Amino acid sequence: MTKRDYYDVLGVGKNASDDEIKKAYRKAAVKYHPDKEGGDETKFKEVSEAYEVLKDGSKRQRYDQFGHAGVGGNSGSGAAGNPFGGFNGQDIHFDFGNGGFGDIFNQFFGGAGGNRQGPRRGRDVEVTLQLSFEEAVFGVEEKIKLEMDDECSHCHGTTVEPGYEMVTCPTCKGAGQVNRVMNTIFGPIQQATTCETCGGRGKVPEKTCTVCRGKGVERRERSISLKVPAGIDDGATIRLREYGEATSNGQKGDLYVNIKVKAHKKFTREGDIILSEQHIGMIDAVLGTEIDIETVDGKVRMKIPAGTQSGTDFKLSNHGVPHMKSDRRGPHIVNMIVDTPIKISKHQRELLEEFRDGKKHGIF
Ligand SMILES: [Zn+2]
Ligand SMILES: [Zn+2]
Repeated sequence: MTKRDYYDVLGVGKNASDDEIKKAYRKAAVKYHPDKEGGDETKFKEVSEAYEVLKDGSKRQRYDQFGHAGVGGNSGSGAAGNPFGGFNGQDIHFDFGNGGFGDIFNQFFGGAGGNRQGPRRGRDVEVTLQLSFEEAVFGVEEKIKLEMDDECSHCHGTTVEPGYEMVTCPTCKGAGQVNRVMNTIFGPIQQATTCETCGGRGKVPEKTCTVCRGKGVERRERSISLKVPAGIDDGATIRLREYGEATSNGQKGDLYVNIKVKAHKKFTREGDIILSEQHIGMIDAVLGTEIDIETVDGKVRMKIPAGTQSGTDFKLSNHGVPHMKSDRRGPHIVNMIVDTPIKISKHQRELLEEFRDGKKHGIF
């Protein structure tokens, strides 16, 4: 049997938008529906199959490129065709979760089929934490205060007033689902939906919590202690699992702490290296000396050898940033800048001139 082109089946152009395809399908599905007078099951299956492919971006692309072979020809027609097979208007349970019907028929039925029971999870919370240069280098313990939905302190999120119990839901008798009969364009349809009384849990509180009124959560300020590890850098994010907002009968969201490190007056940082500049006088550079260098660990004595050139880097091992995954530390690197004196006394001038003349005579 030669398959008809899917676009022809739906009566749309090759460049039809998703919306046009959806509208065309909806019209055809209603027209050919086998349970309708004058319906046509073969045509109905054909349009369903075409829609299955064309509504899906990647399937549509494969179809455009390789034709029916690209989408396995069969795809979707089973799932799409079956829910209506043998429908006689009574006692048929519909499953709108798969196949091509979900989105379209949800519109017909006012979204009743979209009652999902997936795992619930509280919202993630994001916060920025400002640290000083030294706090980032050595780590710090911070308290973060945040207002968010937290577990109800009265019922501890159970939604039951303390002293009472959860009892079987009177609406669904514990099943979590109820069968509802809906009048549709195809006649009455019975469908299983999530019980609205218990939200699908099958149980309800004997007495609802008087504080949260069954929400299981209440808005309040939370104080969270956070240990910021030594060596953390600007732009890092710490994720605290399940420190986000609470939700009733679900997992808490996560808390994301974005680290911002303030600039330091004297130090800059490149990974585990701390960098600074140190000015020394010309004579000290010529003759050599010992000076105190400021580091994050306080003053460190350093030898300046005779004949130090301006721009030379000196390394102070183990005075840089601690490694986050070992107990080692990076270095502190000091860039030495030799200052040329601007104002000198008459006597100093004479000495320097003598020095220069000496140089001419080959002393240096
Ligand atoms: Zn129920
Ligand atoms: Zn409560």
